[in-house]
This record gives sequence, structure tokens and C-alpha cells, in this order.
Amino acid sequence: MKLKKRNSIGLEELDAVKRVVSSGNLSQYVGSWCDDFMGGPEVNRLEQYVKEYYQVDYCLAVNSWTSGLICAVGALDVNPGDEIIVTPWTMSATVMAIIHWNCIPIFADISIEDFNLDVTSVERLITSRTKAIMVADIFGQGHNNEELRILADKHDLKIISDSAQTPYSLQNDTIAGTMSDIGGFSLNYHKHIHCGEGGLIVTNDKNLYERMALIRNHGENAVTGMGRSDLNNMIGFNFRLGEIEAAIAVEQFKKLKNIASTITTLGDYMLEKFKDIRGITPVFPKENCKHNYYILPLLYSDSETGIKRKDLIRAIEANGVYGFMNGYVLVYDLPMFKTKTAYGVSGFPWSITESGRRMKYERGICPVAEELQDSKFLGFEMCLWELTKGDIDDIYNVLVSILGND
Ligand SMILES: *Cc1c(COP(=O)(O)O)cnc(C)c1O
Repeated sequence: MKLKKRNSIGLEELDAVKRVVSSGNLSQYVGSWCDDFMGGPEVNRLEQYVKEYYQVDYCLAVNSWTSGLICAVGALDVNPGDEIIVTPWTMSATVMAIIHWNCIPIFADISIEDFNLDVTSVERLITSRTKAIMVADIFGQGHNNEELRILADKHDLKIISDSAQTPYSLQNDTIAGTMSDIGGFSLNYHKHIHCGEGGLIVTNDKNLYERMALIRNHGENAVTGMGRSDLNNMIGFNFRLGEIEAAIAVEQFKKLKNIASTITTLGDYMLEKFKDIRGITPVFPKENCKHNYYILPLLYSDSETGIKRKDLIRAIEANGVYGFMNGYVLVYDLPMFKTKTAYGVSGFPWSITESGRRMKYERGICPVAEELQDSKFLGFEMCLWELTKGDIDDIYNVLVSILGND
């Protein structure tokens, strides 16, 4: 069998591009304090649209969500050597934003129920050096924001959330990613909606918004013009999104509810369908949570089937089905953490503090995430494909032909 790749780009986006190109204005940013410091009409329209969409006070469009994460960490009053507690089960970009500002990532373990930060494991790691918590709304479902907020408030910490994989997941009546101090979304072409490359930062905090606007656009030139005296972390970048991408992104947002609800329905069906496959345990969404299934989460037991996960995936691919994943990402497995090599070769930024110098990112610090990575997690890249229920039934049959059912 052969699955079809999903493509949400159509005539609406083409018309938007034509409109912008005909205007001749492909970007309107100026990198010093003036009217155009905040960009042109399409960027402003996108930000307005997103503010209303997510019901937040402020939005900034950026050229990638990786850039957005860098803005977010820089906007906090962090000093080199400060610690930020972060999930290890996320794309590397979440953690690299910490390193970019010479802060030190401290990895807390995740919960097997939703693959998001386990609040009790975060609490154990809080010290006087901790400044913030970074959580990812991983795979398409929001983190436990109520419990995490209570903990953060108790210790006066900010929360940054990464909702790159979760653009429209309702959790009770709120949208995942909008309850943190700073949240944001990715518009890269792997995600539910995209404009090629792009990112969106959301916040309800005016101070953080202004600081992020400065970091986005050569803040060192504009900080005093904006009427601010805080020069810390105002080493600005150029993270500006173009007008063409912004116009495409607005058209994509108009399609998001539809795309998200289609994927939610199919993902729910797939989890239910896969319940009786030997060795496989679907991980259902939390109560009152609509899952966006960027990745469909399954647990796998190789001791039950006698087939190693990577051999299982090879056997599935022999049937023409691609998208099953041999684990996900355990960020501290990256060589950078093994040798603590980031800036230069002398252990900077870890070398700044005594505790940083002592720190080791060894196996054993997050046992739940490690077991998932090594054998137990079997994801399916749901967002990649334009699936029908018939396709899902066919995938089920492939799995049953290899593993059997009970
Ligand atoms: C895609 C992704 C990012 C990075 O987003 P870009 O827009 O590609 O920079 C960050 N975090 C997570 C969890 C992601 O999935």
C-alpha cells in the first residue's frame, strides 16, 4: 500500500501570494525605532488574526518557532549560568534556546500518560538558580498547565511552552499553549499548517511582548527608542517573517480548525482500532482533551512479541507503510550534552557555575523518557499523511499480520 502525503496549500494561498507580490512590498521592517519597526501590513494582519484566534493579548510573528523560543528565553530576566528546567522529550530547538542565552538546561522526567513534564519530577529539581520552566505540548496535546502553574507560582518561576505540534488542541475550554507566560507555534512545513517556515509567539504580558519584539528585530538599536532602559539580553537578531509568508499563514489559519478536527477524528479512530494488536497499547488523550495527533502515541512491548522495535518498523515498511518511529527524541543523548560542548571547547556555559561544572547529563536522570526512547515508544507520524479510515484499516491489517491480535 502507499499512503498519500498531506498538502493543505491551495488556491487561497496562491491568491494571497499574488496579492502581496503585486503590491511590490515583500517586507516593511526597519531595524531601528520607527513606525516600521513592527513590520508591514501582512505581518500585522497575521498577528492580529492570531491574537483573536487564540484569544491572547499579544502576538509576534517570527521567521521560525526556533527563533520564537530564543526570543522567549531572552525576554525573561535570565543571567548566564541560570538554570531552566526543561523536558528532554522534545525537538532539540526547545532546549537550544536555553543554551543560546548561556543558561543551563536541567532535564526533568516526563509522564507516561501524556509524554509531557511530570510536575513532581520538576519540583525536585528547583533550586535558587532556577529561573523558568520550559514545557512542550508534545505530539498534539497540552501539558498539565494547572498543576505546573501552581508549582511555578510557588517558586516565582516563568513558564514557556512549546506548542509547535499542538496548534489547536482544546483542553477543557482553553486552547493548549495559551496559558503559559510565553507560548508559541511553528509554521514550518512539517506542521499541521505552515507557510514554508515561520513561527508565532503569544503572551498576555506586555513587558515580555516588548522585550521579544526587540530581540526579533535588532533590539540593540531600538531599545531606548521604545522607551525602555533594560539593556539586558537586548542583543537583537533578525527573526523577521516576510510579507508573503505572513499572507500565506493567514489563509492557513482559516483552514486550521478543519484540519485539526479531521486529524483528531482519525487519530481517535486509529487508537480505538489498534487496541487489540498484540504488544501494542494505544495511549488515549487525557480527559477533556482534544488531541491534534501530530504524532499518534503507542506503547510497544518487545518482550511480549519477541520482535525488536526497529525490526517491527522494518517489517511494516516492507508493506509500504512509512511513518512509524523508532522512539522519538531524548535531547540529552545529543553529543553536545555528553561532552558539554556548546560555545567553544571549554564547557561554556556550564563552566560559569560550580553546579554547572559538576553537572553530568548521564543516562539515569529521566528513567521514564529513557525507557520510552530505548524500546517502548512507537509513534506514528499522523500529520504527514492524508489518511482515510480505509487506510487506517489497512495499516491495522499490516500490523496484525506481523504481530497478531488478542
Ligand atoms: C517543529 C518544532 C520546533 C521548531 O519549530 P521551527 O518552526 O521548525 O523552528 C520546536 N519544537 C517542537 C516541539 C517542534 O516540533
